[in-house]
Amino acid sequence: MAGLTPLDEALALVLNDAAPVAETETVPLAEALGRTLAEEVLARVPVPNDDNSAMDGYALRADESSQVLKITQRIPAGTAGETLLPGTAARIFTGAPIPPGADAVAMQENCEVEGDKLRLSQPVMAGENIRRSGQDLERGSQVLAAGRRLQAEDLGVLASVGCGRLSVFRRLVVGVLSTGDELVEPGTADRLAPGQIFNSNRYTLQGLLESLGFTFRDYGLVADKPAETRRVLESAAGSCDCVISTGGVSVGEEDHVKHQVEALGSLKLWKLGVKPGKPLAYGRIGKAGFFGLPGNPAAVYVTFSMIVRPWLLACQGAEAAPPLSLFATADFEIGRAGSRLEFLRARVSSAGRGLRAELHENQSSGVLSSVSWANALVVLPPGQTVARGDVVEVLLLDQLSR
Ligand code: AMP
Ligand code: MG
Repeated sequence: MAGLTPLDEALALVLNDAAPVAETETVPLAEALGRTLAEEVLARVPVPNDDNSAMDGYALRADESSQVLKITQRIPAGTAGETLLPGTAARIFTGAPIPPGADAVAMQENCEVEGDKLRLSQPVMAGENIRRSGQDLERGSQVLAAGRRLQAEDLGVLASVGCGRLSVFRRLVVGVLSTGDELVEPGTADRLAPGQIFNSNRYTLQGLLESLGFTFRDYGLVADKPAETRRVLESAAGSCDCVISTGGVSVGEEDHVKHQVEALGSLKLWKLGVKPGKPLAYGRIGKAGFFGLPGNPAAVYVTFSMIVRPWLLACQGAEAAPPLSLFATADFEIGRAGSRLEFLRARVSSAGRGLRAELHENQSSGVLSSVSWANALVVLPPGQTVARGDVVEVLLLDQLSR
């Protein structure tokens, strides 16, 4: 469709324009969840640190495992044993270091013990039931690369190499302004006057931004007036890395965002070939990046996920793999082909060895409950129809919102 930028082009354009933050800070490991590593982390110790026992049992020399051995020491976890002399064995527990001289552990279930005499019911081979030092991470190896967005299991791995403090990029600050004379902040009124609606976009965006690890700043409700729009845009751009507005970005006389951004800075993108989400502006105001999202709440979710999220992660210095493309059997029909790339709110569920997708019954860009109901988006290329039973591409919302 003329004048609309296809999604892949728009994404390439904004990513090309994204500059990663330079400033870093040092944070304790316990406060690092969701932060982005500014430097690679190397293992300063091997994990595990010692060759240790994978079982409760007896440490011995494998080539003596058919003899009767004398039990001469006891090695619980946390203590080091002594060199194992020929003809002897050590009682050993899971995680305890293998004593010098031993090269295998017999599990206790295969051992007969009488007094200090040990006999195995089956021989063991050298190396059996031993967890080698460095088998998890070798000393000096890379634990995590710069750009990693730290998740729970990463914190555990960092702890395993003794890393107590980390260098991370400072959090990006993202300002959100909600344009529209019709907007009322929830909690400030019990009822709505004719024509009013509650501001929902701000809350969707706040949740998305915070779960992605950014600092959210609310610039409140902005009236559909050029001067006010400009004042708030300028103030937000002065203290945020990125400014996101919702609404007021189409071509009606009440839509002021585009002109005011052009007056304060520049626009590089306007109008996306995506449904929902045709009006979408990207540009700069001073040093801040600017995204003008549509007003319609389902379009806000889609355009944020597809364009704003990747840009923000790039500016945060974070690696961001594209969401996984999954394929599901359509439990719906689309008889009329559209002219834009469409993202349909869907629920996918397991069906045998595959997935099936059903659509929310109302795909209007104003229906936010469709997003809340959905766990996925069906990706429908322009010009395509769908018959029940066709295979369609789906993206999981889980992957788009964090
Ligand atoms: P606009 O792009 O300003 O014409 O807005 C498009 C539609 O989105 C209108 O129906 C608006 O009322 C609605 N809308 C705009 N902003 C919000 C918001 N913050 N929360 C919920 N709906 C909104
Ligand atoms: Mg409006």
